[in-house]
Order: sequence, then C-alpha cells, then structure tokens
Amino acid sequence: VEISNHMPTAELQALDAAHHMHPFSTQSGFLKKGARVITRAEGVHLWDSEGEKILDAMAGLWCVNIGYGREELAQAAYRQMKELPYYNTFFQTTHVPVIALSNRLAELAPGDLNHVFYAGSGSEANDTNLRMVRFYWAQKGKPEKNIIISRKNAYHGSTLGAMSLGGMSGMHAQGGVVQNVHHIDQPNWWSEGGDMSPEDFGLERAQQLEKAIQELGENRVAAFIAEPIQGAGGVIVPPSTYWPEIKRICDKYEILLIADEVICGFGRTGNWFGSETVGIQPHIMTIAKGLSSGYAPIGGSIVCDEVAEVVGGDEFNHGYTYAGHPVSCAVALENLRILDEERIIATARDEIAPYLKEKFESLTGHPMVGEAKIVGHMGSIALTPNKATRAKFAAEAGTVGYLVRERCFANNLIMRHVGDRMIISPPLIFTKENVDTLIERAWKSLDEGM
Ligand code: PLP
Repeated sequence: VEISNHMPTAELQALDAAHHMHPFSTQSGFLKKGARVITRAEGVHLWDSEGEKILDAMAGLWCVNIGYGREELAQAAYRQMKELPYYNTFFQTTHVPVIALSNRLAELAPGDLNHVFYAGSGSEANDTNLRMVRFYWAQKGKPEKNIIISRKNAYHGSTLGAMSLGGMSGMHAQGGVVQNVHHIDQPNWWSEGGDMSPEDFGLERAQQLEKAIQELGENRVAAFIAEPIQGAGGVIVPPSTYWPEIKRICDKYEILLIADEVICGFGRTGNWFGSETVGIQPHIMTIAKGLSSGYAPIGGSIVCDEVAEVVGGDEFNHGYTYAGHPVSCAVALENLRILDEERIIATARDEIAPYLKEKFESLTGHPMVGEAKIVGHMGSIALTPNKATRAKFAAEAGTVGYLVRERCFANNLIMRHVGDRMIISPPLIFTKENVDTLIERAWKSLDEGM
C-alpha cells in the first residue's frame, strides 16, 4: 500500500503504532489511542488528518520561531541540495554555507563568542561541550578540573552526555549517567521558595553553586551549565538576584560558563540570545532549534576566543558526519536573514510581548492558576489547588497538568505541561488575535481540566 495523507486516520495510526517508536512516550499506549496525525502547517497553525486546524503555542518543540511554511527556506534547501548536498569539514576541507553561517553567528553572538563547532542537534552540541571543556582544562595542564555543575530538573538533551548534564532523575534512572556531573537546585521560587522572598531565594539558590565548588574542590570544577531561563524544566524564570550571583561565582572560581541557548536563543526571550536578556557573557553557548526555526536539523556550540584558542592548540578528536551540513547551514542562514530583515525579534518583543504578558498573566484569575511567568515568548503557569499556600495537587505529580494539556489538545491548542506547570513558547510571528485565541482556549481547557 502507498501510505499517504489520503489514507483514513485510523489506518495511519495503526501503521504508526506498529512500526514507529515515539520519543518520550509509552509506545504501547499508541495501540489503544493512536497519535494525532499532523499533515501540514502554515504560519502558526497545524492541520491534522481530520482537517482540524490547531493553534501551535509551542512552535513545534520551541523551535519554529519564524512560523511554518516559509517558501524562502524551502528554496534555500533546494538550491543547496542541487549545488552541494553534502560535504564535511573534517579533513582539510570547508564549504561556503558553513563559512557564511559561522561568520553570521560570530556577528550575532555577544562579546567574543566568535567560533562555532557544529552538531546535528542540541543534544549533540551539549555532548561536544562536555568533552570540549574537559579537553580545554586538560590542555591548560589541569586535567583534574573535570567536574561539570548543572541543575536539577534541567533538560540539556537525550544523548548520554547531554542527559547526564541534564537533571531529570527519570532519565538518569534509565541507563545511568556519565561520571563527574554534579547537580544543584533550580531557582524555582513558586515550588521551592517557601517563606523566602523571591530575591533571597534566588541568591540562596545561586550560592549553592559556590557551596558545591567548595565541597567538590576549587581545582576540580570545569564548568557550570544552565539555560538563561529554564525551558523544558517548566519555564522557570529565575529571581532577579540569581544570575548576577552566578556570574560572580563563576568569575571568582575561574569556571567556564556554558549557556544552553537551545530554547532561549534566536529571539525567544526578546533578544537574539537569552544571555543578553539575563545579562551574562558565557564562554560557550549551545544553539539549535531556532537557529533554523526547525526547518533543518542543526545545532552547535559558539565558543569564545580564549577557549577556541586553547582547544585549537591540539587535535580535538570529536565530530559528527552532519556537523555543518551544507543544507542545514543554508536553511539556517536564510532563517537568520528573515528574522533580521523582517525585524521579527524586535516586533515580537516590542509589539506583541507586552500584550501577550498582560493576557497570559490574566490566567491567574482562574481558580486553578497560581502564578504566571513570562519573558518574551516563553511562559508558564503553575497549577495549584491553593494559591495562598502554593500547594501541589495531591494526585501524582503531573496528572492535572496532563489532563489540562489533553483538554488543550482537544480544543485545538498546543500547550505543553511539565508536572504542574503549563507552558507556552509560541512562534515569534504570533499576532494579538492569536494571543486572544490562545487565552480563550487555555481558559476553557483549564475549566474542563478542573
Ligand atoms: N538543550 C535544551 C535547553 C533543550 O531544550 C533541548 C531540547 O529540547 C536540548 C538541549 C536538546 O536539543 P535536541 O533535542 O535538538 O537534541
């Protein structure tokens, strides 16, 4: 049989369940309830095989920043595939798309982040970072400086290295982790702040980094990795005191700061990079997702002059077949051109984000919504049975969030849940009208999920 969009949904679902293993899913569940078949997309909307039009308030997986259906990106891929569909840069070769993209990223990235090591995804890029910072310190004659500090509940990817950097205990439990990664608590005031003010709590959480360094040994810690604003962990916006203190500690103990910009990068927080929004200058930034708006797989590490120089002093035995893939580079370049020339980031920040913030925060008027936090185009609400005590729902963590997400899905709105938080990360081309639809459907879904 020829499998196509014209097949009945149930048949497509059965074939999917029989042969396709889904990420982060209980596979056997698809035998009972088939996956929704997404058939096409345009702008900020998806369509499914039943013809339903769905508002995508997650930009795919936080990545379709310029929205779906841009002809220019398809043309860029087509032209590049015809001219040079593949070549690598391993053995004394290079190509024009990778040169052009690297130069553009060096222009865009803050400070002296001028050098790009490519990967096929954010996970791979964080694996690169893990190895690169250890190699860096070994090159500097300090091989014992090999511990990386990260945060609990962080998501940095799914490969063994990136997953170990991440702080998701459910992932660590399945297959183990790499050695010498240490996790401190996240600055999640709503859930963990107790009686402290957000500012005091932010300081206390940042100072855990200093305590960890002192416990592990000042000469043992290579790097600290964190997202400027934690995304998949629940869009945890840190208190204002958090990042300045982290910065102070990293400087004091000569620790490399890795900003994972896989979600925060390319406009999501209102600037090109989340590091700019929270006021930090990292040594390395992880990029992926919004770099190509998800149109082609690509990731990488943007590295500062000093680290690049030290790492470049000897052969770094590391690389991926698809690193700097010409088609992905061409697509990413075109995406960056559109973001820039159409002023998508500035418009999203100046014209839409204030409206989105006002409307999103109005969800706290719902009996089940405790706090609403949003920076630029990434936000979350905390679900609670008691706003005053910031209590959690008694049911197994995530159950209520899961229910609300299911209701959103049924109401043709894609929002995501992480435990008891509901998340949005809409395409940066969201209009005020899209915002209104989002809030209307979210409110309805919250009502139905109670
Ligand atoms: N880092 C962060 C902050 C992410 O959110 C993700 C994916 O969601 C990754 C890394 C991993 O990226 P990828 O899924 O492209 O491997």
